[in-house]
Amino acid sequence: MQSVASTSGCHYSGMAAARVWPAARALEKAIARHVLPLRISRGVSAPSLPPTFHTSSLPQPSCHHSLFSTTFIPPNLWSSASSSPLLPSLSRRPLSVAAVASTVQESVAEAPQHVPKKPDGPPERERVELPTNDSSETLLKIRHTSAHVMAMAVQKLFPGTQVTIGPWIEKGFYYDFDTKEPITDKDLKKIKKEMARIISKKLPLTREEVTREEARRRIEEIQEPYKLEILDGIKTEPITIYKIGEDWWDLCAGPHVEHTGQLPVKAIELETVAGAYWRGDENRQQLQRIYGTAWENEAQLAEYVYRTEQARLRDHRKLGQELKLFSIQDETGSGLVFWHPKGAMIRSIIEQYWKQQHLRNGYELLSTPHVAKLELWKTSGHFDFYKENMFDQMAVEDEKYQLKPMNCPCHIAIYKDSLHSYRELPIRWAELGTVYRYEKSGTMHGLFRVRGFTQDDAHIFCLPSQIADEILGVLDLTEAILRQFDFTKFEVNLSTRPEKAVGSDGIWERATTALREALDRKGWEYGIDEGGGAFYGPKIDIKIEDAIGRRWQCSTIQVDFNLPERFQMEYQDADGERKRPIMIHRAIFGSLERFFGVLIENYAGDFPLWLAPVQARVLPITDSQVEYAHRVARQLKAHDIRVEVVSGERLPKLVRNANADKIPLQLVVGKQEEEHGSVAITARGPNGDRKLGEVDVAELAERLKVAEAAKKRWFD
Ligand SMILES: [Zn+2]
Ligand SMILES: [Zn+2]
Repeated sequence: MQSVASTSGCHYSGMAAARVWPAARALEKAIARHVLPLRISRGVSAPSLPPTFHTSSLPQPSCHHSLFSTTFIPPNLWSSASSSPLLPSLSRRPLSVAAVASTVQESVAEAPQHVPKKPDGPPERERVELPTNDSSETLLKIRHTSAHVMAMAVQKLFPGTQVTIGPWIEKGFYYDFDTKEPITDKDLKKIKKEMARIISKKLPLTREEVTREEARRRIEEIQEPYKLEILDGIKTEPITIYKIGEDWWDLCAGPHVEHTGQLPVKAIELETVAGAYWRGDENRQQLQRIYGTAWENEAQLAEYVYRTEQARLRDHRKLGQELKLFSIQDETGSGLVFWHPKGAMIRSIIEQYWKQQHLRNGYELLSTPHVAKLELWKTSGHFDFYKENMFDQMAVEDEKYQLKPMNCPCHIAIYKDSLHSYRELPIRWAELGTVYRYEKSGTMHGLFRVRGFTQDDAHIFCLPSQIADEILGVLDLTEAILRQFDFTKFEVNLSTRPEKAVGSDGIWERATTALREALDRKGWEYGIDEGGGAFYGPKIDIKIEDAIGRRWQCSTIQVDFNLPERFQMEYQDADGERKRPIMIHRAIFGSLERFFGVLIENYAGDFPLWLAPVQARVLPITDSQVEYAHRVARQLKAHDIRVEVVSGERLPKLVRNANADKIPLQLVVGKQEEEHGSVAITARGPNGDRKLGEVDVAELAERLKVAEAAKKRWFD
């Protein structure tokens, strides 16, 4: 992953941001209050952007929901330390969970929470809510003061060290140092110990306002030239400095705790050392950055460590390989996904379920080509506004063709093939449509950011008076489908008209009111992002929360006033006049690839019975039962149960392998089972394996069919 951000900040609030990329709100707040100026240079774009970032303020063609596929990333730092805009550095080592785990060993051992190591541990584990810099002023003070205390400790232990900047970040804080000798991970323990000593002394933090000249004099006195540069960047006066105890101080504007004794020593840990450049400029001094994490209490730290470890264990790239679900191969092209038999089986089940749900809810299915004449993409505006995200055009005889980056124009082409009466509306058309988008090499990320993917796309064409009902229908369907995959917590946002927009005030007002009405009727709480809508219409975004508390942007519902205009779409109204229909884009998963990645991580590869690519594995105790094992498999397959036989190893090994492959049911067959026409069942369950004893094969088939029909998580 390329580092696309570089922070050069200073420890001060009185400065103006040189250039701020609209990243996480927490970051903005940090910028506004403290760590200015923050200069983050934008790489190509978005693997590093949090999902809260909207591309919608940029002039983009319609079909906003599809844009999300390219701006989707794992939402939290602990899911992907390397993709954070907040962790810029050179030769940065990835966040070492092992390092976290070992440095916090002490605290965790004393913490009330247990930290299960297994990714498929009991889901009943009580989750501790983690505050954010945004939600907790206390947390902010703790992190900020911790950064200073760490700097103090480093300067004490490594005489001659110069401190530079030290802001708080999403999961803690860091400080950049210019040291005489390199600091290594091994030194962190020592530094932490010194921090603990400083904390125990309950040193007061005192604020002092001085003139620029006085600040300069004091800096020269302690010979810290970095501070002089920081001072030069501060445009306002007076200059504020903070002292900790009597001897140590830094340019700073707070906020801090009152005295170091208020820092929860057991909720603070140092994580890793990385390289960084002064001012983020590779031509300037190379510095050492120490990352730390800090929380309000031990329980939160334990939760953070748990989630970090879980995120590592659940990484879909790792599990995808181990469970033989998919591959992405450099030789065949990066960002292009190969679904292996087991992954393709899961995909097929998801697709069947998705289609069934849509048909039940009044949708019709479409299927459209992967390429179309360039003309279509000129009419839609994609060629003008979205070109850098498209594959190059290809020549076919005398015409140019375009691999499709979105499905919408194709659905419009079907709409426009005949005249529609108002009586036909609403029309709901859905397609699992595969699209291709250009992403710079080096920006791809597993299934989360790819060049080819299948959107679970749908377009609704309706009358203005039908918007609210249609949106409500989409919300209901979205909830039903996401719940089936065990997502039950949603974060909903409504984005309204931006400054630059197409469409009349009247239609914006009407559509936005309809969206609100639908959300109110649904009874969902939602946030409002004023001005955060696309230029072509208001939208609703839905984030889902996974098993370890991470939030993922998947579903989007987007009203569009632009494409119907561009394509001059019409319907014949009751008064005989031709009018423009309202167009709604929507996706529930976003894309199958990305959603699959989220599912793998959410379930830690332990798929529910109804989704599992292999639901049961027959394990013969000796070679004498191999033939019977195959007979059992045939019998179950006749009932559409996904079953396989694995033999040729001793039973304990077969069982171990079945566990490693997370097969829901192990069906052991020995001499006795063969005589009885039965199997001995061990089933995975929420609390580990359960022995269900000997069951007749015909009965098992019936019970499995019942469980399958109910789309059960576990067999019981
Ligand atoms: Zn669309
Ligand atoms: Zn400070």
